[in-house]
Amino acid sequence: MPTYVYKCDKCDYKFEKKQKITADPLEECPKCKGKVKRLIFGNGVIFKSDGFYTTDYKRKDSNASKKAGKKEK
Ligand SMILES: [Zn+2]
Repeated sequence: MPTYVYKCDKCDYKFEKKQKITADPLEECPKCKGKVKRLIFGNGVIFKSDGFYTTDYKRKDSNASKKAGKKEK
């Protein structure tokens, strides 16, 4: 079941909602009852800035290159 991300036009409230692909998209903000827009749909893939797997690779990479650089100097 994919997770959809909605953002409210009115109060900028962002939230995620797991829905069936066949389900109708939400239209109402749970906070202010304003109109929401669906930002992402399909595949259940959400790109979050935190905890994304590439962050680990980056960290390892920069550490390794730092060490290598020190050794060379
Ligand atoms: Zn709202």
